[in-house]
Amino acid sequence: MRIGAHVDSSDPLAEATARAADTVQFFLSDPQGWKAPKPRADADRLRSAEVDLYVHAPYVINLATLNNRIRIPSRKLLLAHARAAAAVGARGLIVHGGHVNAGDDLATGFDNWRKAFAYAAEAGGFGVPVLIENTAGGTNACARRLDALARLWETIGDHEVGFCLDTCHAYAGGEELLGLVDRIKAITGRIDLIHANNSKGAFNSGQDRHDNLTGGTIDPEQVVAVIRAAGAPVVVETPGGADGQAADITFLREQLGVPAPTA
Ligand SMILES: [Zn+2]
Repeated sequence: MRIGAHVDSSDPLAEATARAADTVQFFLSDPQGWKAPKPRADADRLRSAEVDLYVHAPYVINLATLNNRIRIPSRKLLLAHARAAAAVGARGLIVHGGHVNAGDDLATGFDNWRKAFAYAAEAGGFGVPVLIENTAGGTNACARRLDALARLWETIGDHEVGFCLDTCHAYAGGEELLGLVDRIKAITGRIDLIHANNSKGAFNSGQDRHDNLTGGTIDPEQVVAVIRAAGAPVVVETPGGADGQAADITFLREQLGVPAPTA
């Protein structure tokens, strides 16, 4: 089982070494900005690395919104990131499920997701698996609660689309972790990546505040149980820099009986 961390994008492979991680996730541009990613000088090195790479799309992207001034740039930015992620050999591009504004019809939000996939297909496809991640907050979210996730998958499940399960977001979003993997797989048929995070916020608080695995409000054994049930690669998005994340990775390897990679 591959276990790694979300790291700074300047030298992801050095960050992997610093954490004894065999998987890293990083941004290709400012996560709060609308700039398309630039080609990377280290693309060849990244593509041929032993470390598995995942790219996280910017947070500003919202494919579901009825606000066209956000939605149209969002689908363009997602496609640009997909191309850039493919260029570095990433195994997946993670994007949040998005939401509609208060008073807007969530059904239109799901249909906007369908349009985003149609737009990409027309442009020749994403070229990398797109993994939709569950989110913690909001009352009009497409992928906070599983009833919404089921409607999202009814709309886009025929496309090549994967799922990324964030344990902090699920718990803070109000989904019990016990049995969660089975409930999700009944909807999506797959879990491609786990974001293993503890939560500073309480159950169903709606707060997206990650904590280290043995801190926070979630029993760490429940996070381990989710990973074991999913059998998917793991990325921790926890605080504390290289030391904090290395400790989280070591904790997971010990709990799961996974040996550390030999350098
Ligand atoms: Zn996450």
